[in-house]
Amino acid sequence: MLIVGNWKAYVETLEKAKRLYAVAKRLAAAGHHEIVIAPSAPHLGFLAGGNRSSVEFAAQDISSSLGGAATGEVTAGAVAGVGATYVIVGHSERRAAGETDALVLQKVQHALAHGLVPILCIGERERDAEARYLAHLRTQISLILTALSPQERKKIVVAYEPIWAIGKSATEAITPTDLNEMVLYIRKILTEFLPGKGASKINILYGGSVESGNIRALAAASSIDGFLVGHASTDAASFGALVKAVT
Ligand code: PEP
Repeated sequence: MLIVGNWKAYVETLEKAKRLYAVAKRLAAAGHHEIVIAPSAPHLGFLAGGNRSSVEFAAQDISSSLGGAATGEVTAGAVAGVGATYVIVGHSERRAAGETDALVLQKVQHALAHGLVPILCIGERERDAEARYLAHLRTQISLILTALSPQERKKIVVAYEPIWAIGKSATEAITPTDLNEMVLYIRKILTEFLPGKGASKINILYGGSVESGNIRALAAASSIDGFLVGHASTDAASFGALVKAVT
């Protein structure tokens, strides 16, 4: 499984970042899945620069600009240069801050051009009785994949993160049965863009209140390839327990 810890802005001190990185290193060394951590940009530079372990690094976001006169922006080239291999793109917290699908597409393209694997976040704000949220997900995926070449499409990871499930507790996360349906649905959309066996090779992650108490059931009931974990990845004990729960 691919398990990505999105530290968001929960981790502000370098001491805490180092402690969490040490836990991630132990989990990765024990062969507990592919472990990726996404620290804040300063901590990413500090930790990834000296990384000699099998932990991999993700940036939490990148700029839609390619550099130059763009004060405050962190570019794909900059994060790839310090050793990140993934980047989270289109997270709902970035979309809530005004990020459009057009900007998400630019970021995906910049990521790919710099050899980074984009983790494309999609997800509905709420579920409606008419199931319009399914069309919303289809649009979010289609807008990006249509603009990519067949080779580029193979290089993305899709993270399904229903907004209603983010930042809560395991009891309010998606149910295993619903997750199974959503993974099948997303995989079906992917087959329209990646014929043959292409779609089956794309990693689909789930994010939204994944904790040690629900991760095993979510993994067991669906063909999910991994998880994007927010708050539970910023506590050493919780992250360790969560990863071990699916080992
Ligand atoms: C997220 O926002 O990417 C996320 C998964 O958050 P949480 O685990 O805190 O719900």
